[in-house]
Amino acid sequence: SGGGTPASVLVLGLDNSGKSTLLNALRPPDQRAQYTVPTVAQQQDHFQSGGVSFSAWDVAGAARMRPLWERHYRRADAVIFVVDAADHLRLVVAREELELMLAHPDMFGRRVPLLVFANKSDASLALSASHVAAALGLERISDKPWHICASSALSGAGVADGIAWLARQLR
Ligand code: GDP
Repeated sequence: SGGGTPASVLVLGLDNSGKSTLLNALRPPDQRAQYTVPTVAQQQDHFQSGGVSFSAWDVAGAARMRPLWERHYRRADAVIFVVDAADHLRLVVAREELELMLAHPDMFGRRVPLLVFANKSDASLALSASHVAAALGLERISDKPWHICASSALSGAGVADGIAWLARQLR
């Protein structure tokens, strides 16, 4: 992008979905943490790379925390929603959170690209990207370009593919 305001990418998902691990994989190698600390509700993980500003938040949990990440919706240029594809029980919670985000007045109707990572694809119980897409009801999204990618934030598999899609959307 060459200077100016960095594109703002919000990284959202339930706790334990892999947001911190994913962000660490996206960091330039010299900025990577040796050990990732799980994202805490009040605390956002944040860094800038290649003209893009990434901020991660745990969604769900205490209702009083919601305004903390929702106030960033207005200036979001893109959203990455991270799902633990091996956590079958909480897929319904992930869907509820995704739907709340999509229905928010600062998001609804805006053409904000949405990248979903069906993360932990390396886990033996991980659902495929198409299963996760169906469980989340992604096909019903009509106001935003969206894309789903199976990923392993641990090994990095699939991460670059997803980010390449996002970069094309932001260009
Ligand atoms: P966050 O709460 O969303 O920030 O999640 P973390 O990044 O802290 O990850 C939660 C746990 O899942 C950690 O133990 C990670 O090592 C693990 N994890 C994250 N991504 C993957 C993945 O792609 N595959 C597997 N098997 N484990 C992962």
